[in-house]
Amino acid sequence: MLAYTFLEQGTFKLLEKERPVILDDRDAIVRVTLASICTSDLHIKHGSVPRAVPGITVGHEMVGIVEKVGPAVLSVRPGDRVTVNVETFCGHCFFCQHGWVNNCIDPNGGWALGCRIDGGQAEYVRVPYADQSLDRIPDPVTDRQALFVGDILATGYWAAQISDISPDDTVLIIGAGPTGICTLQCVLLKSPKRVIVCEREEQRLQFLHRYYPQVLATTPEKALDYVRRNSDHGGADVVLEVAGGAETFRMAWQCARPNGTVAVVALYDGPQQLPLPEMYGKNLTFKTGGVDGCSCAEILKLIKEGMLDTTPLITHTFPLEEIEAAYDLFEHRRDNVIKVAIEIGEKS
Ligand SMILES: [Zn+2]
Ligand SMILES: [Zn+2]
Repeated sequence: MLAYTFLEQGTFKLLEKERPVILDDRDAIVRVTLASICTSDLHIKHGSVPRAVPGITVGHEMVGIVEKVGPAVLSVRPGDRVTVNVETFCGHCFFCQHGWVNNCIDPNGGWALGCRIDGGQAEYVRVPYADQSLDRIPDPVTDRQALFVGDILATGYWAAQISDISPDDTVLIIGAGPTGICTLQCVLLKSPKRVIVCEREEQRLQFLHRYYPQVLATTPEKALDYVRRNSDHGGADVVLEVAGGAETFRMAWQCARPNGTVAVVALYDGPQQLPLPEMYGKNLTFKTGGVDGCSCAEILKLIKEGMLDTTPLITHTFPLEEIEAAYDLFEHRRDNVIKVAIEIGEKS
């Protein structure tokens, strides 16, 4: 089968590999029908994910059809159309029991697929802990609608859950990239009084105006003043930092009102300063990221009910055979790309 593979820092290549087989009773083999490229794939390519293992197939955002299951798998059967969760988790350890699946203590726990074990930019993928990692896609929901459920949409959903948004709140979201837009959609489900999005890029601001006219928008230079003028208590009640830029962490806590909540969803390239003397007396609550991706079933239900729709994020589609060109477009942000879908056809 064809599999897009991490060879060494700077090099991914489409290779012919053996089809994966069941290694554990709780595994499933999924025939991938649609995959996507995530910024984290680029981080692997550029060597900024040290635990990524050379030789693995990349890709951790995908949907497909269950081909085979191990004898201990109960929740899915061959033929089921499923989303694949970016995180694998055992479901039994202390952390899993609390829903903190990102910290599952299992050796395969956390982000393994497409990082430490073979992922889904391939015709087939082996998914450990299939009962926890796969969710059946309800019939009316298409593959394109479900594509982001296991990763960026799970992240947006989790971010909105942990930030305790109430109806009187002004919520600031920093960053309108793909994860920022998923976060925005999930924040809107909470119906806060006001949502402000801060974004630097003109193309993303246009996307925002087109699809979310009810949302206020500002740019990094104007954000602090804009948020103060457009909130009831001198700053945002809740700030979600999804950008991960050099200055965005500072912006996040500066734009929050006293006693507000700052949820850090972004992954930074370097350490951030927490200047406690400067923020003394502001009495902020900080929440820090990585997603606990265990809400896929709820997210699929919301998609089915028409409450969430991330299909406008898919701006380009390529077949697996042309994945090289898809990466090139995505990496260099050409042609107003937001997200790329990779179609994977059935092979005889
Ligand atoms: Zn990702
Ligand atoms: Zn666990």
